[in-house]
Amino acid sequence: MDRISIYGISATGYHGVFEHEKRDGQEFIIDVVLHVDITRAAASDNVLDTVHYGEVSELVVEQIKAGPWDLIEKLGSEIAEAILAAYPSVATIDVVVHKPQAPIPVPFSDVTISLTRHQKQHTAIIALGANLGDPQATLAAAVQELGAETELLKVSPLAITKPVGGPPDQPDYTNQVVQVRTRLSPHELLDLCQSIEAKHHRTREVRWEARTLDLDLIAYDQLRLDDERLTLPHPRAAIRGFVLAPWSWMDPDAVLEGQLVSRLAAEAADTKDIIRL
Ligand code: ATP
Ligand code: MG
Ligand code: MG
Repeated sequence: MDRISIYGISATGYHGVFEHEKRDGQEFIIDVVLHVDITRAAASDNVLDTVHYGEVSELVVEQIKAGPWDLIEKLGSEIAEAILAAYPSVATIDVVVHKPQAPIPVPFSDVTISLTRHQKQHTAIIALGANLGDPQATLAAAVQELGAETELLKVSPLAITKPVGGPPDQPDYTNQVVQVRTRLSPHELLDLCQSIEAKHHRTREVRWEARTLDLDLIAYDQLRLDDERLTLPHPRAAIRGFVLAPWSWMDPDAVLEGQLVSRLAAEAADTKDIIRL
């Protein structure tokens, strides 16, 4: 993993167990190392595709000024959590807190604590579909490619389904659903899905036309999100037998927005034509 490092961010803070420390304050110096994939930023040369080190430094100073805490262990942990929460693309962060003016009664040059924290793990449901080329081989490859970047928890049996919507006279679809565990953010997971689609020559001209591979992000924890790139849960998942049926075979207790997936599957109009392989 690539790294962005910022050394020696300093500000006055009021942390310490002694009253005079909380009253007078002293200098705290912070080093942070962000473990983050910078491939996209390297390709685009756009600051929006990376973690802005100026903003991170300001967030660190905000944390130095917050509290006050008794311990630099607490300060370091607060800095790590604040940065992980603000930047989902940061997979891991190393923080060093220096307190060179700590009240130590013998000569010393510095005292530090160092800690490493990871982005939390998330669980996501991804639906796969294909009806051009060799759908079964494509789905098998795509599942393997997802598994290279995430931890595959569950993989559904294959479903043969009739096309729903879109231009007429399309071949039948092969559908599948997987559950993954990942530290990737929702948008990074969508990026991953789209990069796998592209690798399998997915094109987009007419809505819901036949395709070599479609990977849709169905759910990400219990997250609800709606922006220009991503809607979660997937807005049409709850009425699609071709998503719900394989999902319920894989996980009979699965729930989507408070509803049992197996019940939603039974109610979906297209479920009656689905063949389980
Ligand atoms: P449908 O979304 O109805 O299944 P589709 O899969 O054929 O249709 P795509 O062409 O694959 O549609 O995706 C169109 C856009 O939908 C993508 O560019 C993506 O940014 C956006 N999108 C929004 N929410 C999601 C989601 N949950 N999963 C995948 N793509 C999403
Ligand atoms: Mg789709
Ligand atoms: Mg799609």
